[in-house]
Amino acid sequence: MRYNINFQISALIIVVLLLHHFVTRKKLHNANTKIFTYVLILSGIYILFDLISTLAIMSYEPACENMALIILTVVYLFDIMLPYILYCCAVVSRGQGKKIDGVSMICTVVTVIMLILMLINLTSGWFFYFDQSTGYHRGSGYVMLYIYALLYIVLVIHQTLKKREDLNVHKMGVLTEIVVIEGLCMGVELYTQHVMLSGFGLALGLVFLYLTMNNPGDFIDSTTGVFDKQYFDNWIQEKLDKRTEFHLIAVEAFMLKQINKVYGSSVGDQLLVQIARELQNITGSVQVFRTTGNCFLVIMDSLTEYERNRQQIEEYFREPFIVDGEKIDFPAVICGIINSEKMEQEDVLLAYVEYLVSLVKHTDETVVIQSDDRILEGFRYEKEVEHFLKNAVEKDLFEVYYQPVYWIKEERYITLEALSRLKHPNMGMIPPDVFIGIAERQGLIAQIGLLQLRRVCRFIKENEHIMDSIRNVKFNLSPSELLKPGHSQVLIDIIKEFGLSPAYFQFEITETVATEYSESFCKAVEDFQNAGIGLCLDDFGSGYANLNAVLKLPFDVVKMDRSLLTGITCDEQAAIFYRSIVMVMQNMGYMIVAEGAETEEEVNLLRSWGVDMVQGYYFSRPLPEKELLKLF
Ligand code: C2E
Ligand code: CA
Ligand code: CA
Repeated sequence: MRYNINFQISALIIVVLLLHHFVTRKKLHNANTKIFTYVLILSGIYILFDLISTLAIMSYEPACENMALIILTVVYLFDIMLPYILYCCAVVSRGQGKKIDGVSMICTVVTVIMLILMLINLTSGWFFYFDQSTGYHRGSGYVMLYIYALLYIVLVIHQTLKKREDLNVHKMGVLTEIVVIEGLCMGVELYTQHVMLSGFGLALGLVFLYLTMNNPGDFIDSTTGVFDKQYFDNWIQEKLDKRTEFHLIAVEAFMLKQINKVYGSSVGDQLLVQIARELQNITGSVQVFRTTGNCFLVIMDSLTEYERNRQQIEEYFREPFIVDGEKIDFPAVICGIINSEKMEQEDVLLAYVEYLVSLVKHTDETVVIQSDDRILEGFRYEKEVEHFLKNAVEKDLFEVYYQPVYWIKEERYITLEALSRLKHPNMGMIPPDVFIGIAERQGLIAQIGLLQLRRVCRFIKENEHIMDSIRNVKFNLSPSELLKPGHSQVLIDIIKEFGLSPAYFQFEITETVATEYSESFCKAVEDFQNAGIGLCLDDFGSGYANLNAVLKLPFDVVKMDRSLLTGITCDEQAAIFYRSIVMVMQNMGYMIVAEGAETEEEVNLLRSWGVDMVQGYYFSRPLPEKELLKLF
């Protein structure tokens, strides 16, 4: 009996420590923590009763036999209830709802019978009884208690196995360990009949459970002390599944990179810590997460809380931060999503946050953007396109339209620009600006480029006579198509595969690529040049080109961006600017294409300035193959 007491006391200490540790720990409320709390409390009571029963047996005196009998009966009644409760938990967490199946019915009946038998035991002594001289004795029915417990162990394991798709390998591993520990302890208990280890095994199992699957401390972001992305993932999906109302504020500290560069990354870290702390202070909650390097998410359960916090967070970011006595502006994009539960999936919610942030144009002060129906619609549209795009690439659902470019000098069309088109069965034509952008972000653009180049090659091959009247076909290349190693050769090979002359092609490259990556895409440019493919600098004047870098590249043609054209007919300054650039570029030996001319007035001006070619709706919109062939 002595070791029983020792084991039970240590088990009790373990459980109490665990409970203390768990309750005082910063944690989020979710099903996991709730279940763990219940299990912890139930186990604590079980172990306590185990201890009481051992004490009652040890200190048995015939004089107070009734007292001991009642205490032990209460303990055993609890012993009978416990497996039943655990089983019910397993069934409920499997989500079988209110439907009661046959097995559960039988279990209820069996448990009730056992409870009644235990009460009858007060007079029958079937489970246990006291002998005036030798004290406590197990009755012939005692073994039923073991069989009963075993039955439930099997049932709970069965329920868990049924649920195994929802459990990852890690969780299954932990559960197995607990069952093994508890099983071993019960085995020893059954074998020796007097070393009672089941409570101790339970306590050990709980420690395991706590250390491995329920330890929020593992999911704290080491820099800022708030919860990390991994914890957010688990927690938020449960919230979304339950469809309880919640509201989200995302704070993106978009200047972090610059701050790190200017002040050093330790200052950047300090600023992040300040933000994390302040977000927790303002919201008075632990529901703050750092999901990426510079992005924090705060979850609120009520709308009034949300409104108040959003305002306070905004005010906080409008004031400069102070690090080591120095004032530093650290603006943020603050996104608010009311009723975030409507997003249903975590990845959709996070993508929506990203989308909201992307809507904020270049800025250097704090901006607040709140989700509304219009923005949400835009997001859903993009998602739909994104989804469709993968399908479109697989099935090659694209088309090419050709926009003729007019040669002023000879008053005829001299070249064509190939422009991609994509039609959605329900949504209609998807503008290339939209799907090209998405394709670039999704890493699909190179594939689309290949499909389209093949399509253009096929078209030219079938109608080679059009090449008698035009010089070449212009084909757009996105940055990633130029930067992907070896891709330039793949493009060239396709042209050769069709037996076409590379001189039939002119690739269009935007000025920003030429600027940003002048080093890395030199190889591609060289390949094109060696193969005899022409190059055109596209969208000239739309970004911030590094002219020095751009002009080193072997372009034949410079295409003036459409935006430069706005106002040339009514704004003297705009006109002077346009004309001057045309002059400079022509003096440097480039041919000039003016893009986007829609009126006769514009075309007349461009002609008078000596622009070589004009591309615009005034002459022709982009045309499908058939219509283009009619034109020639
Ligand atoms: P971009 O290369 O600047 O192409 C010219 C765009 O200006 C085309 O838009 C054309 O329809 C439009 N445009 C031409 N003349 C006029 C005019 O007079 N008025 C107005 N308002 N617009 C005019 P589109 O076809 O919608 O293409 C948009 C952009 O999508 C293209 O701009 C290009 O950057 C990209 N893109 C299209 N097809 C491809 C492709 O196959 N590959 C890649 N990488 N990008 C493509
Ligand atoms: Ca173009
Ligand atoms: Ca352009």
